[in-house]
Amino acid sequence: MKTAWPHSSGLAVFLFIMIEKIIKDYLESHHYSRFDMKAVIFDMDGVLYDSMPAHDKSWQQTMDELNLRHEPNEFYLHEGRIGKSTIDIIFQRNLQRDATEEEEKRIYARKSELFQQYNSGATMTGAKEVLEYVKAAGLLPILVTGSGQPALLGRLDTHFPGIFSRKTMVTAFDVVNGKPHPEPFLLGLKKGGNLSPNQAIVIENAPLGIEAAVKAGIFTIAVNTGPLPDSVLTDAGASLVFGSMQKLLQEFPGILNAVNTIFNQA
Ligand code: CA
Repeated sequence: MKTAWPHSSGLAVFLFIMIEKIIKDYLESHHYSRFDMKAVIFDMDGVLYDSMPAHDKSWQQTMDELNLRHEPNEFYLHEGRIGKSTIDIIFQRNLQRDATEEEEKRIYARKSELFQQYNSGATMTGAKEVLEYVKAAGLLPILVTGSGQPALLGRLDTHFPGIFSRKTMVTAFDVVNGKPHPEPFLLGLKKGGNLSPNQAIVIENAPLGIEAAVKAGIFTIAVNTGPLPDSVLTDAGASLVFGSMQKLLQEFPGILNAVNTIFNQA
């Protein structure tokens, strides 16, 4: 069963029964008897930073400048892909061919330039508290992002002091295959200390990121911080969907308690 988390409070027993079923389903389908929680893997854009509106606006403007047609909310659906892949999809639709390397470089450079203009750098409300909660709970926070911005670690350390290190980050520079391929998350598990999928959970906001994490075999929680319907995230494989990082923060103690105490006896 996959379902969106109810938004009202005071339903603790009902919620526990629901999450118990969701967790048991995960354990059973992945042939685990229990979780052995060591880490929480975080996506970055749309989870830790409120940067997706700026990404979306920059992609749209870049493609408009080239008279290349794009669909409503398309760039939210492509979120997590490496730039080349997104550009080729637009090129195939409009020009029935992939972009050349030169075109890709030029287009991605323009998109990045616009992003620098539009991005406020704001963190997602509640993100810092979720990270601090995870750390205080004795779990390792790991970052898995498709982003390839230089100086990422410096920026992360400014906004979320002491949470991530180079050893606990997977970026665009570390992988051959970007999301929706599972490689980034499999590398995240490896960087976390050769972890098994049942030793971590993933927090993601984008359908392709969720797909990648689920393919890596990891229990995946979605935070729906963008314009897509929750159903897109559950269809991608998210076990739970929350409307914001604040909502996730509220329920996180209960979720951790559930993953630490629920066993699959089947
Ligand atoms: Ca994201």
